[in-house]
Amino acid sequence: MDDVELGMQWEPERPHILVVACSDGRLQEATDAFLARALGVRQYDRLYVPGGGGALSASGREFIRAGQLRAECRFLVDAHHVDHLVLLFHGPAADGPAESTCADYRRKQSWAHADHIRGQQEADVRDLLTRRSEFAAEPLRKGVLVRTADGEQFSFDRAVISADTLTGIGFQQRTVVLADGQPSVEEIATEVRLPLEKIVSLQQRRRDWGRTAKWGLGAAGAAAFVIAVGTNSADEPPANPGGGRGPGPEL
Ligand SMILES: [Zn+2]
Repeated sequence: MDDVELGMQWEPERPHILVVACSDGRLQEATDAFLARALGVRQYDRLYVPGGGGALSASGREFIRAGQLRAECRFLVDAHHVDHLVLLFHGPAADGPAESTCADYRRKQSWAHADHIRGQQEADVRDLLTRRSEFAAEPLRKGVLVRTADGEQFSFDRAVISADTLTGIGFQQRTVVLADGQPSVEEIATEVRLPLEKIVSLQQRRRDWGRTAKWGLGAAGAAAFVIAVGTNSADEPPANPGGGRGPGPEL
């Protein structure tokens, strides 16, 4: 076996963005163009699988496979501290060739017309909305340390993360000046509801506040998109193989 030296440096920093997209290599340029133009995403972790985001949904028949892939996605979200999860589906543009329909959907529904498959993809997004914790983030987190954009810091024994809010009993430390003029740190427990957009970091709390591990918000920023591919128009420049359609529903 030959070794190939690339002379490239190892990049230790993770992108904290995970894209689930179809394996079809003909979509690679369209996928990258869509992510860059629509979302400003250029560096991302990949879960490429036939069907893209649709592979996480059974579409009424692939229950075991979809469950395993949701678990695989969930592993990446946790292990790579993913903050944003993007699920991509693809299909033909309005005037695109029927053959650009996703092969995985054609396998699952060989009898179906492109319009029907598009409807199934939308149904699959609705299905995924109901099972977000299976592939994205556990809604309940224990022992978390949160910093907000306003500079506040909260410690939670238990916090529940919904699609847009973190709630829990938060402990906030503040320094007060005692009657004798000495400063003292006191801890206040308050019921906290924080919009996720205000949270700048979410960390796992260890024994002391100094040692923490960064945690992603999981699917806090998850969204699903359909890339509409191809055109039958001969006037279309070949350098523009497709366009994104989105933003899709927030998961
Ligand atoms: Zn496909």
